[in-house]
Order: sequence, then C-alpha cells, then structure tokens
Amino acid sequence: MTSETVDNLIIGGGLSGIYAAYLLARRGKSFILLEARERLGGRILSPEAQGFFTDMGPSWYWPAIHPQMAQLISDLELKGYRQFEEGLGRFQSVSGATQTVSGYANEPHSWRPEGGMFAIIEKLCADLPEKSIRLNHQVCNIAKEGDGALVNVGKLEQEPQAQFKAKKVILALPPRLIASTILFNPDLPPDLTQAMLKIGTWMAGQAKFYALYEEPFWRRDGLSGQAFSQRGPLGEIHDGSNNAKAPYGLTGFVGIPAVQRHNQEILTEAIFAQLALIFGKPAGRPATFFYKDWAREQFTATKLDQPPMYTHPLYTPPAGQTSFWNNIIHFAGTETAPQHGGYLEGALTAAERAVE
Ligand SMILES: Cc1cc2nc3c(=O)[nH]c(=O)nc-3n(C[C@H](O)[C@H](O)[C@H](O)COP(=O)(O)OP(=O)(O)OC[C@H]3O[C@@H](n4cnc5c(N)ncnc54)[C@H](O)[C@@H]3O)c2cc1C
Repeated sequence: MTSETVDNLIIGGGLSGIYAAYLLARRGKSFILLEARERLGGRILSPEAQGFFTDMGPSWYWPAIHPQMAQLISDLELKGYRQFEEGLGRFQSVSGATQTVSGYANEPHSWRPEGGMFAIIEKLCADLPEKSIRLNHQVCNIAKEGDGALVNVGKLEQEPQAQFKAKKVILALPPRLIASTILFNPDLPPDLTQAMLKIGTWMAGQAKFYALYEEPFWRRDGLSGQAFSQRGPLGEIHDGSNNAKAPYGLTGFVGIPAVQRHNQEILTEAIFAQLALIFGKPAGRPATFFYKDWAREQFTATKLDQPPMYTHPLYTPPAGQTSFWNNIIHFAGTETAPQHGGYLEGALTAAERAVE
C-alpha cells in the first residue's frame, strides 16, 4: 500500500471535481484528485465516430440562464453551436400511431459545445500538474485524523491499495453515492446521512442513445428531428448533429424505466424499429449507434436512482451543510448547488464554493 500526504484532496473527476482542480491549480495550491473510473468526466462522456463527438451524458448548455458555463466555454476557447430545431416535429401516441406536429424551439435556446462536452474536461486538465490526477482510485473510506482526514482507496472488504492524508477534502460526487458507498469514521450524524440519501442524482436513472447517419434525411422531409413518444422505448428524440457536416445524428432518451431495460439487444432492435416508424426506414439503419444506460453505472447510480425522476428537484447542500468535521470535508458536485443544481452550471458553482 502506498501512502501520500497532500494539502487538498479532491474525490471525483467529473466536471465539478475537475473544475475544483483547475481553480486550485490557478491559485497555486497543491492537490491530488482521485477518480474511481478509468476515465475522467463522470456523467460527461463523448465517444467519437468519424471525427464527430457524440454526448452520451450532458449535451446542452443554455447561455441565457447558465452564464458560468457560457463564460467557461469562451475562456477555454471552445465554440458552441445552437441545437438544430428548424422544421416540424413528430409525435407518437400510446397506441403507437405517429403524426407530424408543429415543432418548437426550446426557449431559452439550447447550445452544444463543438467537440462534445468532454472537450471542456480536456481543456480544464491541459495544464494541471503531472501526477495530480489518479484514475482507478475508488475511495472506500474516510477517517478523521487530527485536523485532517485519512482517505483509503480500494474495496471496502479488502486491504486498501493506497492511503492519502489531507488537510482538506472536496467530495465532488453525488451525495447519495457518498452515503451509499463510502464509510466514515467517526460515523456521520444520522440526519446528514439521511439527507444525503434523499438527494436524487440527476439523470442517474436515464439511458441515452445516439444514432449517426451520412445524411440528415429527416431535414429533407421538413422535420426538425424532434419527436416525443408516449409509447417508447424512446421517449424523447432530437437532432444531434453539428449542423455543418456529416455524420448527422438523432439522439435522445429512453422513456422506459431502468428495471425494464435489462436486455440491450432487444431494446436496440425496438429503438431501430421505432426510429424507422417515426422518421422513415433509413432511420432504422444508423451507420453508428451508441447506447448508454447510466442506471447501470456503479459510480453514478445507486439502487435508489433506478425509478425515474419526473421533476427536477430543488437541490440544496445536504442538511444545509456545505462542510463537516470542522471544515475538513467540503461538498462539491452539482447536487449540492442551491442554484442550477443537477446541471453542469451547478457542478461549476458547487466546485467554486468548495474551493473558496
Ligand atoms: C444522460 C444525461 C444527460 C444530461 N444532460 C444534461 C444537459 O444537457 N445539460 C446539463 O447541464 N446537465 C445535464 N446532465 C447532468 C450533468 O451531467 C451533471 O450536472 C454533471 O455532469 C455533474 O457533474 P459532477 O462532477 O457534479 O458529478 P459526476 O459527473 O457524477 O462526477 C462524479 C465523479 O465521481 C466519481 N466517483 C464516484 N464514486 C467515487 C469514489 N468512491 N471514489 C472516487 N471517485 C468516485 C465518478 O466516477 C465521477 O467521475 C445530464 C446527465 C445525464 C446522465
């Protein structure tokens, strides 16, 4: 087992943790970031096909209401493009019947970053000190020790693979995941643990698809690519293309709950059939198809996140606390942001608060 001492330890390498690292680095503060997965980004995931980066997690930001995201994208010298929404929409009823309906442009307008959301993570990491980011480092246990914390990495039932002693710790992961998967010593007060468990992780129960084509054939038919279905398996579909060039995409969310999404092969066939029904035969034969079920991701979702969330919760720091153990441990992560919680914007503001 290795053992290291550091001033600041960040747990979680999603947008919130990476932004906290970026802010600490800009202030000349030393830190180490521990990420459980073999990759950074957390709910941000942008697989590439033919030079186009799809977004299997978040794809939109809204400059009119999320100023920090818009500013960050500009500061990082990234470009955004507006969601394509021109043309008519499609609607599928419970019976499966489809009809063409008037389309509508979201207000405020949704934007996508060129290069996918992961471009933001890459840019934020570009100048971080060497060896400050540790992948495959799952934190299993945090103990209070003197005026700092002792953080163990590994599996709970096994000997730790690494240990970190830190003066300050930033927890940049969903509170429900913290309460369900990390042991604290001494125990956290029951009301804090309960409050953490009650905070639903935004979109953790969702599954998303991306279908890529050589041509945006739906646009030629006067369709925007937007569709809503009461029947499923897809509930919501949008044009997922960067307007300028191929490949062109349709993307959106699976509408059926996580417990019914057990057989991906059957589900994919049903998705292709539904796309063909709604947008015509070519839609059922994408050149590339991506599917991501976030409810099955152990570093995003817990059992409590499997039922669908129908409304956007009003997020607040758990039990109103932004820190505990005399300010040794600080919450970041979008679900602890009182404004824009759940969104990328909330991930930024929560990180900023923790760093302050
Ligand atoms: C399908 C989908 C669509 C979405 N669409 C949008 C959108 O269009 N616009 C928008 O603003 N938001 C959207 N969101 C929400 C957005 O993704 C989140 O707000 C944001 O990514 C949260 O960032 P975070 O850093 O707070 O959390 P996360 O991204 O969840 O990061 C937490 C990190 O902690 C790591 N971790 C977990 N456990 C441990 C452990 N024990 N030890 C070490 N590391 C650990 C995880 O691997 C992860 O990297 C969407 C989310 C999903 C899933």
